[in-house]
Amino acid sequence: MTTYEASDTKPHKLKVRAQLIEEICTSFGNDKHRLMDILIETQRRFRCIDVPAMEHIAELIGSSRVEVEGLVSFYAFFSDTPKGAYTIRLCDDIIDRHKGMKKVARSFEKELGIAFGQTSKDGAFSLDYTPCIGMSDQAPAAMVNDVILPNLTPETVKELIHSLKNGEDLHQLAQKNPVQNNIRLRGDILLCEVEDNKGLQSTLEKSPEEIIKIVSEGGLRGCGGAGFSTGQKWAIAAKSDDPQRFVFCNADEGEPGTFKDRVLLTERADLMVEGMTIAAKAVSAQQGMIYLRGEYEYLLPTLEAVLEKRRAQGFLGQNIGSQKGFDFDIRVQLGAGSYICGEESALISSCEGLPGEPKTRPPFPAQQGYLGHPTIVNNIETFCHVARILDKGADWFKSFGTAKSFGTKLMSICGDCASPGIYEVPYGTKLTELIEMAGGKEIAAIQVGGPSSELVGRNGFERTLCFEDLPTGGSIMMFSAHRNLLEVVDYFLDFFIEESCGFCTPCRVGNVFLKERIEKIRAGKAVPEDIDYLRELSNTIIKTSRCGLGQTSPNPVLSSLKNFPLVYAALVNENEDGFKTNFDIQGALEESRRLAKHRSYIYDPDFEQE
Ligand code: SF4
Repeated sequence: MTTYEASDTKPHKLKVRAQLIEEICTSFGNDKHRLMDILIETQRRFRCIDVPAMEHIAELIGSSRVEVEGLVSFYAFFSDTPKGAYTIRLCDDIIDRHKGMKKVARSFEKELGIAFGQTSKDGAFSLDYTPCIGMSDQAPAAMVNDVILPNLTPETVKELIHSLKNGEDLHQLAQKNPVQNNIRLRGDILLCEVEDNKGLQSTLEKSPEEIIKIVSEGGLRGCGGAGFSTGQKWAIAAKSDDPQRFVFCNADEGEPGTFKDRVLLTERADLMVEGMTIAAKAVSAQQGMIYLRGEYEYLLPTLEAVLEKRRAQGFLGQNIGSQKGFDFDIRVQLGAGSYICGEESALISSCEGLPGEPKTRPPFPAQQGYLGHPTIVNNIETFCHVARILDKGADWFKSFGTAKSFGTKLMSICGDCASPGIYEVPYGTKLTELIEMAGGKEIAAIQVGGPSSELVGRNGFERTLCFEDLPTGGSIMMFSAHRNLLEVVDYFLDFFIEESCGFCTPCRVGNVFLKERIEKIRAGKAVPEDIDYLRELSNTIIKTSRCGLGQTSPNPVLSSLKNFPLVYAALVNENEDGFKTNFDIQGALEESRRLAKHRSYIYDPDFEQE
């Protein structure tokens, strides 16, 4: 790796740096739509993207420094000051906290002699916290550069730092304790034995209309949680007058507690690409993109190898399956640490070389998406299902699940259970069944679908996972009776505060107010009006936020109020002098427009752990 010290302003060093930046920009065609790639490479080579680098890049790609700076400040993995040669990002997720992250954090600090948020004086190490990195089944976990280190303990941290200081190779060290897939239950559709390319072969004989009809008849709905009809989305793009269309795969799962995409990417990348290729034929797209979250960069070589193999086999590229004119190819776009990029229009913004801010809809991406062209965005699981439906038929797919939710669903189960991991179950499975399968211990609450969905209590454990009852993208976090549920709610609000793109005030500021009131309750200083305030403000945020993040961010508060009223009742005092009962929420939001867009990630050093 060529390194550059930001403090080194010797003329020959500056010249070398300028040449390297030119090389990077040239390698991406000086294309401003490839700005994410340019910045990822610049960060990797120089460990930072400082103001002179931003200015130089802007000049080379015909952009402005302000625009480049907009990306640098937006994405968590970019920095305008130098990071360490080893940048350690310790996952600060609630599951990691419960599994001993605090002790691991102290061990990192002790071994390196720096605190979180700092870089060692010799520039060798940086320490940072990061939200969920998709390893909740093997927590605590950390990223070190592009390497994932799961199941950390204070002892393994000590060994790791010792080895790195002695010059041992990071990638080889990671082989001693690799990421596990933890597949606990292989269902009948995705994780069973699957014959390669049967679905794609069957589409070669079919027209785009026939393919869309089969996907629609199978009743497939997007597996990210929202559940929009896949066939309907494709039909919108297919009937567009614009001949240039795109197929994007959303591999940016960032919902805390979910890790199913990680497993699909390692076990079923071929099936995913097969599904994307089928989609390309259905909507007559020639280009595709896989948006891979930055936390999964370690899977990039695997993914590139699959794409290369499929090109060599004739299943990607020109004349796919020897069918003249069936041309489709895919490139991978890496993300750089932003949860909101899992929202499809924000994902498209990121691919365009912009900050990952959601776009106003309509028009929907299927009408006008990437660079203004019709773009279908589905997630990994959805594309895998597509390939299976085209192989086995719509009726076969509909034979699994419930009356309105067809097929199987991958559940990422983590938390207080003996066997965290991936379970492929049919829609309609009850929470009690999941608890039994995973060996849940004294479970009192389950967060279904991540923080943006519902916190369910014991009286809801007979509920079923399906669109008619409990829709989920696949995250199942189990909490036993000895956990502090308001700590969980508090953490989820921290998460949304950090990940809000800051565009709209109710989301940017409202969640900060929710958190303040939850903290007041945790401190035993709340009165009944605080509960009314939480409900009213939550509903205001839901109604007035522009995208799904803001519209779902109060769910931890609302669902815990609904399902755990006694937790709140135990902490709220009957009377408290001086409380302002007629609090003007809209006025407060207006007043708070000047608040900073982001506040630093809030870490509570006193939280309880195992
Ligand atoms: Fe950004 Fe939140 Fe508004 Fe979505 S709701 S656009 S994340 S500020």
